[in-house]
Amino acid sequence: MRKPIIAGNWKMNKTLSEAVAFVEEVKNNVPSTDKVDAAIGAPAVFLAPMVEAAKGSDLKLGAQNMYDKDSGAYTGETSPAMIADLGVTYVILGHSERREYFGESDAFINSKTKKAFEHGLTPIVCVGETLEEREGGKFEEVIKTQVEGGLADLSADQVKQLVIAYEPVWAIGTGKSADEADAQSSCKYVRDVVKGLYGEDVAAAVRIQYGGSVKPENIKEYMAQEDIDGALVGGASLEAASFLKLLEAI
Ligand code: 13P
Repeated sequence: MRKPIIAGNWKMNKTLSEAVAFVEEVKNNVPSTDKVDAAIGAPAVFLAPMVEAAKGSDLKLGAQNMYDKDSGAYTGETSPAMIADLGVTYVILGHSERREYFGESDAFINSKTKKAFEHGLTPIVCVGETLEEREGGKFEEVIKTQVEGGLADLSADQVKQLVIAYEPVWAIGTGKSADEADAQSSCKYVRDVVKGLYGEDVAAAVRIQYGGSVKPENIKEYMAQEDIDGALVGGASLEAASFLKLLEAI
């Protein structure tokens, strides 16, 4: 049985005081990690105070990105060691916005995924096709390339531990969510690719989130699908009440 994982992705939003106030507001109402893993992927500059504010609760924190080196002359970058040292649990890697605006390749995402494990961070590896790719009949090819590239040379144990977020680019921030049958078949395809690479056991264990215009009103339909184990949520994770409603729906 795979444990559900609901993660917010705040992207480049909020101020520090708003971020800490959010944690104070939700922390006592986050369900136990026995039932669901709940996390917020926050801007790196908020992570330390958010970890501090979340202490004693079941709310976990995630970074939205990191570099693939331990340290060194990489002006402006954040290392996995820095993130892990703060007490952060997850790191979102290869989000479609990073692929699109910052030119991240599958090889780079793979390198970061390996580094995240070296530092005890749990990667949330994002994959997803654009509308053009979907309409051009390229869904399977694109997803297979991203999953194979992102997970290359990992051990079976590592793949069991990580999370894959399937986020169709056309459904991100558009209010146009995929219908649940589509989301299910896409997540099943992701699982089938993992099965082809790592076998049945690993495919049965890896958690796959759906992301793209998930909100309290539609999360139950996604969570009822066999191959959807959680959600990666942008807009609807920004308000405390909405984030708690997403968790209550589990
Ligand atoms: P929205 O939930 O705002 O569509 O964003 C999805 C997303 O990109 C989460 O990573």
